[in-house]
Amino acid sequence: MENSKLIYKRVADEILKADKILFITGAGISADSGMPTYRGIGGLYNNDQTEEGISIEDAISGNMLKRRPDITWKYLWQLGKACADAEPNHAHKIITEIQKLKPDTWVLTQNVDNLHRMAGNTNLIEIHGNAFELYCTKCYAEFDSENITSNYRNGNVKLPPKCGECGGIVRPKVVLFGEMLPEKAINKYYDILRSMPDLVISIGTSSLFPYIQEPVMIAVQQGAATVEINPGETSISQIVKYKVTAGAAEAMTNIRQEINSFGTER
Ligand SMILES: [Zn+2]
Repeated sequence: MENSKLIYKRVADEILKADKILFITGAGISADSGMPTYRGIGGLYNNDQTEEGISIEDAISGNMLKRRPDITWKYLWQLGKACADAEPNHAHKIITEIQKLKPDTWVLTQNVDNLHRMAGNTNLIEIHGNAFELYCTKCYAEFDSENITSNYRNGNVKLPPKCGECGGIVRPKVVLFGEMLPEKAINKYYDILRSMPDLVISIGTSSLFPYIQEPVMIAVQQGAATVEINPGETSISQIVKYKVTAGAAEAMTNIRQEINSFGTER
């Protein structure tokens, strides 16, 4: 087996040793919940073009939402349906357990699927927003996502959804292509970087975005311990201290087992 028991033991040891931990997660952690993986928003598009003959990036962009909200919502809806029934998996839940053990543990996620919150994760930075928070683009009224997402299941859909108060287009609080990152999340992100964690664990992200790669780079420079959990090779695989070649749920389950056995073995 490629992943010897030893690497899980070493990662568990680093977790027990650390005061401040940062988890960085991407689509790979949601893959074990049955979510499709494609740049963190879903893998429904194997070819680049949509039915409209435009790229999925253009369809789900801030500009398209302004010009043709019906097109953007058509694809948001497909993605939303894919996350509507997903449940957090062991990887999400073990992060919650680690947070109980180490309260100064943070989670920086690219995912908008709400699974970290459902698993009870705290200290959460949703850098691309959350698909289950909705608001009116005209009067900024906020909407309970259940009013809209309940329709993911019954197929009773009239898109784009409109605000009952003012008739404005309702949208999710997610960062669409071409949009800025949310200011609150960015501020929290820089807070974390200023007082760098002594352990950074990247799970299931290809680390393409600079703000996802940066904390790992800084941790390496400052001599903090770094872990990558990913079945594939990424831009950070060569620089992390521990590279775990496995899926998120499997790896985290093994790490938890090692954490639990520390008390009895030593
Ligand atoms: Zn409104």
